[in-house]
Amino acid sequence: MNLEKLSIIPLEIINDELIKQLLLKLEEIFELTTEQITWDSVTQIEKFDFKTGQRYRSTELINYFSTNIPEKTNRILFITTSDLYSPVFARYYGEAQLNGNVGIVSTFHLKENIREESHNSVILLSRLKKEVVHEVGHLFGLTHCPDPNCVMNLSGKACDIDIKSSSFCLNCSELLKNTTPTVQ
Ligand SMILES: [Zn+2]
Ligand SMILES: [Zn+2]
Repeated sequence: MNLEKLSIIPLEIINDELIKQLLLKLEEIFELTTEQITWDSVTQIEKFDFKTGQRYRSTELINYFSTNIPEKTNRILFITTSDLYSPVFARYYGEAQLNGNVGIVSTFHLKENIREESHNSVILLSRLKKEVVHEVGHLFGLTHCPDPNCVMNLSGKACDIDIKSSSFCLNCSELLKNTTPTVQ
C-alpha cells in the first residue's frame, strides 16, 4: 500500500522553512506523503496566463490542473502571496475542489487584523496552517462545519481564523477516516 502524494507548488518565492512546516502539518493530519515542487516542473504555461491584474483566477487555475495533473503527484496545493480573483467571491483565503485533486491558498488576506505587529509572523503561520488544512480537507471531501473550533469552520474575518483550532472535530475526523483513499 502506497500513500498518495500531495505536492505544494509555491507561485512566488516563499520561504522554504515555511513550506516545510506546511508539508509537515499536512503529513501529520492526512495520510499522505508530501513534497514541494516548482511550477516549471509541471507545466510550460506562464503563471500570468491565470492572472487578472495581480490576482490569480483561482477557479480557472484549479480546473486547468485538475484535468492536467502531472504524473508525479496525486494532488496539488498552490500557495500564493497574491490575492485571488473569482466572479463569485469578493474576498477569500483559498479554494479547493470538493473531493478533488487541486486547491489553492493565498496569504494575501491572512495578514489582516493582526493586532500586535511583533506577533505578525507567528500569527500568519498559524492562520496559514489552518487554511491549508481546511482546503486539503475539502479535497478529501469535507464540507464546512458548524463547530467553531473545527478547522473546517468557515472563517469570515482573518482574526476569526485565530479562534478555530488546526484540527478536525470528532464528526469531521470520522468523515475523513471513511474517505481517505490509498493509491495502488
Ligand atoms: Zn472552505
Ligand atoms: Zn468539524
